[in-house]
Parts: sequence; structure tokens; C-alpha cells
Amino acid sequence: MFEYAPAPESRAIVDIKPSYGLFINGEFVDGNGTSFKTVNPATEEVLAEVAEASDVDVDEAVKAARRAYTRVWSRMSGAERAKYLYRIARIIQERGRELAVLESIDNGKPIKESRDVDVPIVAAHFFYYAGWADKLKYSGYGETPLGVAGQVIPWNFPLLMLAWKIAPALACGNTVVLKPAETTPLTALLFAEICQQADLPPGVVNIVTGAGDTGRSIVSHPDVDKVAFTGSTEVGKAIARAVAGSDKKVTLELGGKAANIVFDDAPLDQAVEGIVNGIFFNQGHVCCAGSRLLVQESVADEVMSRLKRRMATLRVGDPLDKNTDVGAINSAEQLAKIRELSAIGESEGAERWSAPCDLPANGYWFAPTVFTGVSQAHRIAREEIFGPVLSVLTFRTPSEAVEKANNTPFGLSAGVWTDKGSRILSMANRLRAGVVWANTFNKFDPTSPFGGYKESGYGREGGRHGLEAYLRNTEKGADA
Ligand code: NAD
Repeated sequence: MFEYAPAPESRAIVDIKPSYGLFINGEFVDGNGTSFKTVNPATEEVLAEVAEASDVDVDEAVKAARRAYTRVWSRMSGAERAKYLYRIARIIQERGRELAVLESIDNGKPIKESRDVDVPIVAAHFFYYAGWADKLKYSGYGETPLGVAGQVIPWNFPLLMLAWKIAPALACGNTVVLKPAETTPLTALLFAEICQQADLPPGVVNIVTGAGDTGRSIVSHPDVDKVAFTGSTEVGKAIARAVAGSDKKVTLELGGKAANIVFDDAPLDQAVEGIVNGIFFNQGHVCCAGSRLLVQESVADEVMSRLKRRMATLRVGDPLDKNTDVGAINSAEQLAKIRELSAIGESEGAERWSAPCDLPANGYWFAPTVFTGVSQAHRIAREEIFGPVLSVLTFRTPSEAVEKANNTPFGLSAGVWTDKGSRILSMANRLRAGVVWANTFNKFDPTSPFGGYKESGYGREGGRHGLEAYLRNTEKGADA
């Protein structure tokens, strides 16, 4: 192993305030509820005290969004709305380093990911949907916005999930009330400042912070026309029940348990990089993470030995260090969940191997881990661990690979590694997954729709398809 001198990114660029209010009607207000702390998961340092929005606050936010919708935003031409979205996109680029550093501090993800993946895709999303704002008549989904969108997002990609929600909603002429996750509110609040800087009309974007109760209050508010949720399947089901019988339009982006399938003709070194990227990117806190490796039996030993060698070089530690590959687990609760499922994996008879690495004394950490000898019946093969833990299964034939890959309640994504184009196409047709990557993994682009089958949810985000969720489809023959 090589020794590296630390190369930490300075945090001087971010100005974290001791306390934050709610962003309602274009201003930061105190709110009527209590408050909660947000913590740096790499150090356990308390970063700030953040307002917990009550039902009354949520109601204020929805009213502000309704006023802005009726009086300003829905009346504005698409070309005018686009100017605001382009402005927001440019400010995100200008303040990219600040956003990346803050995201890494509040979330625990490595700076090289927040800087080179999250923030650039966030800006790209706003640019992309800015382009649609004056072209909705070509969308195929009509041009009529829905009204007020209530949006609830998770902690794994705080800013990116915000962009996936807010950019298409605004482009289509809706206004929004968005709640970030309770462990990662800070970049959403910085985004609120960016909305002020962009002179976005008050009430078009409202950010309310809080936990599950605040989320419940948003999705059940009678004046919310559209609910957009990204998070766990369990909460997604609760939301589906809560809105059943109302005329709210709903999209749910939920959990996953993706199969990353490696055939014996695949370029193995590249496949190993893809496996590492698939499961250790963002500490494995990725809904579409390649958490089940299906490797063809004839190359299984070779792949495992190359994979372990590669895993031993992963640098785990300070998220702000530019050398870091794997950062901190986002919260003590998530760490406990990963530990519990890993212990179950061992007790069920799978063989555990963790990369040798020194973990920092403070903060929440979990060494990159792989389980071999996993069978379909094991809980680690069925449940979403949402951490840097890979389960390895083997297969002999393409049909067996398809059967094992599809043997899951989820259906968000899959990866196929092979030299044969025809095999890629036939696998993609047979895999029940919203996204199938071929000889790559975890690639995201604003032009490409993303979403799941089965318990991974319904609706698509990204691309032209992502507009459907925010428009009242008045095209001939469509459901109104
Ligand atoms: P979570 O479901 O616990 O929380 C998500 C959000 O919902 C948070 O903001 C939370 O405060 C809020 N919430 C909790 N209870 C609620 C309720 N009853 N009503 C309304 N809102 C409520 O999920 P998490 O642990 O934050 O995120 C991890 C999960 O998100 C994983 O399962 C992951 O697969 C999924 N995810 C999916 C996608 C996707 O695009 N499919 C993307 C990212 C994450």
C-alpha cells in the first residue's frame, strides 16, 4: 500500500450559520415548531440547529406556493421561466465549490464525488429543464401545470435529488414546497439563498426542514396537487396509502437491489472497476447501487481475487480529502442498520471479507465489505443494505442470471458486463429494471429517464419523460 499525504479541501469557503429557519415566500422565517441538529457524520460535530416545520408552517409554505402559482408563475411565459432556471443553473456552477464542500460536510460523501458528480449534474439538470420550459408543446404531455408540488427527498444525494424534483416542476410552471432529509438539510437551505440571488419570485420555491412528521404534513396537505417522493419503499407505501382516494398526482422513487452481472467474456479489470463503482460510490448509499454481484461461475475466483486486490486500495476517511474514495456513513442510525444486516449475513452462513483500512476514531464508518457464498434465500441478497456491502452470487447460464437478477421485489437498475452486443440487448430485454447499464454503472444524465419497476416505485425522473409528472396531460386520448 502507498502512503498519501492528506490533501484536504478547505472548508473556509462555506459559511455555516449556527441556526437556520424555514424558507417560505422568499424569506427565511423562524417557524412555529421546535428545532433539530444536523451533524457532520465524519466527526460527529454539530453543524447547526435547524427549524422543524410544524403543520402551521407547512400550511404557510403551501399558501405561499399557491399564491405564487396563481399570481405569477403559471402566468409567466415558458421563455421567461427558462431565464430563471438558466440563472439558477449558472449560479450553481459559480458557487459549485461552496455547494460541494457543504454537501460533503453535511452528508459525509467524498469531495471528489460531490465536486465532480453531484454538483455538475445538479447544474446540468437545471440547464436541461430550462431548455424545456418554452417547448412544452412538444413534450407529448400537454403544457398545463398541475399547481403546487409537495416534494420529499432523502439524504443520499441531497442536492441532486432536490434538482431532480425542482427543475422539472418549475420548468412546467408549478411551484414547490420541498422538504430535505433531516440529516442533510444544509445544501437545500443554501439552494434557497441561490433562489434569492436569482431573484426568483417569492413563493415559487419553499424549503421546509424537518423529519417524517413534516413530510407527512406536506403529502397530506389538501392544497397540494402533486406529491413527488424519493426515499424508502416502506415510507413510499405509507405515502401511497395517505394519498389514495385524493386526486393528487404521485410519483414514487424508492429502493433498489440491483444485480451487476459479469459474464466470463467481459474485460475483467474494467468489470472490477464497475463493480467497485457500483457498490462503493457514495458509500453504497445509492438506490441503484450494484449491491448484488452475479458473476459467471467460470470466472468467479478470478473476479473475486482481482476485486479484493482493488478493494484493498480504496482509501476510506475524511470526506474533504481529495484522495478519499469512500467517505463517512451518513448517520449513526444508518451505520447501525448496515452493521445489523452484515451480522445477519454472517449468521446465515455467508463469508465476510472487509478491506483492511484504518477507520477514524470519531464519526460513522464502515469498511468496504464483500460477502461470498451468498444464496438467494439470504437476507443480504434480498434486502437493501444501503451501505458499502456487496453480496456475491454465481450463475452458469444467461437464463440463470436473468432469473436470479429478477428474483427481487425491486426493479430499479442492473448492470451487464460482456463483450457481446447481442447478449447486452437480450439481457436488457429480459431484466425487469428501469435502467440497464452495459459495461458501465451508475451513469446519470439529465436527458435520460430514471425510475423503477415493482417496489422501486412508479413514474420517471429526467429526460422528456420526467415532464409527465408535472403536467396535466390534455393531449388527445390522454387521461386528463
Ligand atoms: P426515508 O424513506 O426514511 O426518508 C425519505 C424522506 O421521507 C426523508 O425526507 C424523511 O424525512 C421523509 N419521511 C419519512 N417518513 C415520512 C412520512 N411518513 N411521510 C412523508 N415523508 C416522510 O428514506 P431515507 O433513509 O432518507 O433514504 C434512503 C432510501 O431512499 C433508500 O431506500 C433508497 O433506495 C431510496 N432512494 C431512492 C432513489 C430513487 O430514485 N429510486 C434515490 C435515492 C434514494
